[in-house]
Amino acid sequence: MSTDELPQKGQPPPYEGEAEASRDGGVRYQSGPAQPQMVVPVVVSHPMGPKPTPFTCPSCNQQVVTRVEHKSTTKTHLFAILLCLICCPCVCVPYCVDSCQNADHYCPNCSAYIGSYNH
Ligand SMILES: [Zn+2]
Repeated sequence: MSTDELPQKGQPPPYEGEAEASRDGGVRYQSGPAQPQMVVPVVVSHPMGPKPTPFTCPSCNQQVVTRVEHKSTTKTHLFAILLCLICCPCVCVPYCVDSCQNADHYCPNCSAYIGSYNH
């Protein structure tokens, strides 16, 4: 009646190591001629030089030579004041010298603002 049976320790089930050795590391890219697409952002103001420049007007799409309007900048006035202190007749010099002024470029066709030349 009295069976002295030690309960056998249940062994853990054999671990099934599912080692998925997927060794297909050959990731194939499409070997095509890679053409980097340069996305040119639409800029409103174009960097221009101080002189009238041949330009395709973005507004009327005409090949035009820009109309330049010089603007007196703060630097121009400061320069004028400085010249005024040195010698009065020289006051008008900075207003005549293009390099002291900003140049705004406009389309002569449709008067659209194209860009400006800043110092
Ligand atoms: Zn235009």
